[in-house]
Amino acid sequence: MKRNIKSEQKFTQILENETKKANIYLSENQLKKLALYKDILLEWNEKINLTSIVDEYEIIMKHFIDCLELVKYIDEDKKVIDVGTGAGFPGIVLSIYFDSRLNITLLDALDKRINFLKDVINRLELKNITLVHGRAEECANQKEYREKYDIVVSRAVANLPVLLEYEIPYVKVNGCCLVMKSSNVDEEIKNSKNALNVLNSKIENSINYSYFVNEEEYKRVILVVKKYKQTDSKYPRNNGKIKKKSL
Ligand code: SAM
Repeated sequence: MKRNIKSEQKFTQILENETKKANIYLSENQLKKLALYKDILLEWNEKINLTSIVDEYEIIMKHFIDCLELVKYIDEDKKVIDVGTGAGFPGIVLSIYFDSRLNITLLDALDKRINFLKDVINRLELKNITLVHGRAEECANQKEYREKYDIVVSRAVANLPVLLEYEIPYVKVNGCCLVMKSSNVDEEIKNSKNALNVLNSKIENSINYSYFVNEEEYKRVILVVKKYKQTDSKYPRNNGKIKKKSL
């Protein structure tokens, strides 16, 4: 069922109530920007495929509240990259939350999504954001991106062993990845032993959280993956090799 929350005021009121319940406190300006982001998302979603979530209450919960959970684990002086940002989740939400003080790069392989993000950044007047159109495993081999980030964030991009090969090369030594997933990750973690080992990384923490939509609980997890040593230059391998056999 698609619900449109009629006035902007009502949308921001619901958003404010839900964020408070999650112990996140937003200014009027942040609430307005998230409401405008939702409008631009739904406007562009008529033309290109950005999200299957079109119910406005679900956008609040499954996109905004979900992504805002990350702000509890990020300091604004960190350099961050969102790998496989899609329609800007979590990267645009983080930029809005930190009121453009966070230095963030949004990377995606799909040109159309990058064009959408350009429009969002212009209309929301967001600063301190770099857009990169490219494949994660290719850009990670470029000097300007390799081992240049304190934190890599991602949501719903690939299974963990593949994701680690994409992401760890971007991270500075002693930096980390914050991997957002649904909570049934035990199997993926089991399958990631070798990837963690060859990429000199370990899962330091696994943070569980949840939210409710129509009385259904969505259980989620943020995996904190720490990198403790430089990445061997042979990683990430090319797309063909990664697809053929993950680490
Ligand atoms: N992170 C967003 C979210 O949670 O809504 C988007 C998730 S969407 C399911 C996956 C996104 O990752 C897509 O936009 C896709 O283009 C991007 N992606 C997948 N593999 C990629 C790769 N190897 N390099 C760059 N982007 C990639």
